[in-house]
Amino acid sequence: MLKRLADRSCGDCTACCEFIPIRSPELDKPSNTLCPHCLRGRGCTVYEVRPQPCRGWYCGWFFLADLGSEWHPSSSGVVLRPEAIENDAMTVVILRRSAFLLSEAFAGAIGAWVAAGVTVSFERVGPAGHLPAKTEMNGLLAPAIQQRSLPELHKAFSWAIAHIDNHHRWEPDGLTLRTTLAETTNNSFQSRSVTPFAGQS
Ligand code: SF4
Ligand code: SF4
Repeated sequence: MLKRLADRSCGDCTACCEFIPIRSPELDKPSNTLCPHCLRGRGCTVYEVRPQPCRGWYCGWFFLADLGSEWHPSSSGVVLRPEAIENDAMTVVILRRSAFLLSEAFAGAIGAWVAAGVTVSFERVGPAGHLPAKTEMNGLLAPAIQQRSLPELHKAFSWAIAHIDNHHRWEPDGLTLRTTLAETTNNSFQSRSVTPFAGQS
């Protein structure tokens, strides 16, 4: 079982309250749509009564001690899905094209995972209300990793992101924004994360 690291916190990040879709009795929220109960950069305004899918999910940065603060989603623009980490799979959600994607920290970790036999996938968030798109990267990255070439690795990252963005046919997630939750009154905002509904991984 993944163990959450004590020194990690969401800080001003509210990424997963935006990009992940939620389906629950109290709240339906489409993909890539800011939750109506989230204040960007501050957190959840219904924390005490947040729906079940919002409880207990943390992105991969909370579990991987080898990843430094540069991986924090706020600054990196990258979120690691935690769902399959224990099964030797790593889904890297690229929220935006940040300088971090060109860093040695990013290339080093991706290269090490691929070399260790972890299945690495890149995921891109689709337009609001549409499911994300995911592509497996191992085959594409193998030659660059063999050559130990950082420029070739960067070229492969860039190609994969552009390929998804330009060629993927985004599918609607079928969700319509709906909430029965009332704002809590104590004004104690907290960054919180959410669990994807069944079918998202
Ligand atoms: S759990 Fe969600 S809000 Fe917290 S750092 Fe990760 S992506 Fe950001
Ligand atoms: S934790 Fe859940 S209810 Fe609260 S802002 Fe995030 S998505 Fe919305």
